[in-house]
Amino acid sequence: MNLIHDVWIPVRRRSGAREKIAPWEVTDKYADDPILELAAVRPDFNGALIQFLIGLLQTTCAPQGDSDWRKWLNNPPPPVKLKEKFESVALAFNLDGDGPRFMQDLTIESEEKKTTVEVDNLLIDAPGENALMGNTDFFVKRKPNKLLCQNCAAHAVLTLQLNSPEGGRGHLTGLRGGGPVSTIVMGNNLWATSWINVLNMSSFCSLACSEKENTADKFPWMTATRAGDKSITTSQDINPAQIYWSLPKRIRLIFKQGKVQCGLCGDGCDNFIAQYYLKTYGVKYKNIAHPLTPTYLKDNDLSSVHQREAVGYKFWSGYIFDCLDKDRNPAKVISVAMNRGISRDFRLWVYGYDMKKNKPKGWYEGVMPIISIEDSQKRKSFSGYVVMLILAADTVSSSLSKAVAKALNAGVFDIVRQRFWQETEAEFYRQLAILRDDVMRGGDGLSARQAWRGYLSGKAEDIFNDMSQADMIELVNAKRVAKAFNELKKYVRYGERLKTEILGLPK
Ligand SMILES: [Zn+2]
Repeated sequence: MNLIHDVWIPVRRRSGAREKIAPWEVTDKYADDPILELAAVRPDFNGALIQFLIGLLQTTCAPQGDSDWRKWLNNPPPPVKLKEKFESVALAFNLDGDGPRFMQDLTIESEEKKTTVEVDNLLIDAPGENALMGNTDFFVKRKPNKLLCQNCAAHAVLTLQLNSPEGGRGHLTGLRGGGPVSTIVMGNNLWATSWINVLNMSSFCSLACSEKENTADKFPWMTATRAGDKSITTSQDINPAQIYWSLPKRIRLIFKQGKVQCGLCGDGCDNFIAQYYLKTYGVKYKNIAHPLTPTYLKDNDLSSVHQREAVGYKFWSGYIFDCLDKDRNPAKVISVAMNRGISRDFRLWVYGYDMKKNKPKGWYEGVMPIISIEDSQKRKSFSGYVVMLILAADTVSSSLSKAVAKALNAGVFDIVRQRFWQETEAEFYRQLAILRDDVMRGGDGLSARQAWRGYLSGKAEDIFNDMSQADMIELVNAKRVAKAFNELKKYVRYGERLKTEILGLPK
């Protein structure tokens, strides 16, 4: 099976039709019935597959400049053109066979120290019955048959190498640490989403050492693995393409013949995988920025951001703006999109695991609008006001959860906070659009900030009333509830700190 030539990527078209395509068919029937989105059996597979498409385009079709990039955005190349481009790397994309295999170790079979493990372990999975976040049922309950078809095995290998969770001594995390967050600029169809995130040649080359031009500098599995117990791999050791094609885990699938049903997607297949070889110490990456992931500096080392809470507007400004914190940077694709002057039609797709060592506590995913301002000075003042709005919501959220906890005499912080952030999200983006227009006219966002304060106070009081009454108040509790409510009001409605210090409103 070859991941360039063969059909293995599940998608959904505008008409609702579901099918599997080869990567170069992403623009197939673009005018009549375009492919809108990926449709794999698990959300983490979709998250990995979009990175496969972006990475493939980036590696084989990087545009010279913005005008080339814009040309393909508006007039996508026909599949036959993409096929011709992708063909140049097809040798590195065999899933099976005796030679180099896609994202698999070349020499493991002939080595002494290796283990053979069940193919089940390729899947990054939820922690059994104690699904902590309540959203882990996204991860498909597997059928008793634990075999994988070739397609699912390809999805699983890709997902594992991109997210590479911890796994004990010698089992290295990925280029961005275990289960990083990814921020992807989203278009109206799969082609747009894939192409928008492709950087111009010069931006891409600046991420690593573009003079390293051997195939193995791009696709590390083309040669014996640069084992991480002996050497660390930095951006100076690799071609920028390897950032998309990393190899932190040394694994190699064991293929078997026979008619079986896949334990994950349920398809019948002739070629299946029940086990794979595993060995410690794949490539040990350090200090490399991935263009799809925000980063921060810690003790002079570059680290990738991980998502530890539900994706929501609380994190919006941190994903989008590059002027908030000198030690933190949004993903390269976001800054580039801002400077390319993208329209308001694009959205931001954010996802990642909340990983605890080698097990995900949950999978977080969300889509947010992107509001872009080309003028960098205006963008700076806009982002400053946005931070005020988010900070205001954050403090109101914590006052509210404290007040509800006091009223009910119980710890309910997470539920209250989650509800507050969710229920205020739509209004936040509405105020953002008002704020943007105001800043564009040279204004200081005063009316949006005032409106936001009024809205937050009202919302906090509503949620408080709703949640404290749900408790079936006894007489003794009524006093406690009233006291907590007054304290909340004192802070959110009349408090000076929220008004002047956080939102910068006049006294
Ligand atoms: Zn399958």
